[in-house]
Amino acid sequence: MSIEQNIAELRASLPGHVTLVAVSKTHPAEAVARAYAAGQRVFGENRPQEMRQKHDLLPADIEWHLIGHLQTNKIKYIIDFVSMIHSADSASLLLALEKHAARAGRTVDVLLEIHISAEESKQGWHAEELDSWLRTGQWRQLEHIRFRGLMGVASNTGDESVLRAEFGSLASLRLRLESEYFGSGFDTLSMGMSSDYRLAVDCGSNMVRLGSLIFGQRDYTAR
Ligand SMILES: *Cc1c(COP(=O)(O)O)cnc(C)c1O
Repeated sequence: MSIEQNIAELRASLPGHVTLVAVSKTHPAEAVARAYAAGQRVFGENRPQEMRQKHDLLPADIEWHLIGHLQTNKIKYIIDFVSMIHSADSASLLLALEKHAARAGRTVDVLLEIHISAEESKQGWHAEELDSWLRTGQWRQLEHIRFRGLMGVASNTGDESVLRAEFGSLASLRLRLESEYFGSGFDTLSMGMSSDYRLAVDCGSNMVRLGSLIFGQRDYTAR
């Protein structure tokens, strides 16, 4: 199957309210260009410098989403064009983003990444920690950040009941934070990858992040 065919099939099979983020990390700009030719406009990358390089080579109407952990010293590579950051996982990162976005004269859409998996290594806020920061009200002063919703990475397991529980917890947390803090613009639920996106959509996802299903396996040794 070609990249073009993969994009066409996914776009035909996903419900209309679900945004497809094509995760192009590790794949060359030519691969992104092929997906673009098939009509795809939203791409996800996990490394700021790699995203910057592809951005500079590719059409300007691409929406670039950062999905990987962001270090504050790398914000500068992407702040002038990034359209959404899925991986806002700490107050200090949000404060730094606010400063850079204000300086760049931009307002950036941000998702709060929540730790939903049982795995130790996965990043993201724990719900209690996020709640106590939100209660400080500091987020209200971040005028160049638009809080748009939540992102989560589920456990790497084939156990459907575990995945449903994790996706379900993210969906209900979004609902609660929408009503307690953010209001109706807090409408995005980024969950689901190649292995689990159908289940994620079933559990209320409206943004899926798919890499290998579109571009094939990633070759990390080649980079
Ligand atoms: C790499 C990555 C994806 C895509 O993974 P696939 O299994 O290739 O679909 C999705 N989300 C995040 C956060 C990633 O790092």
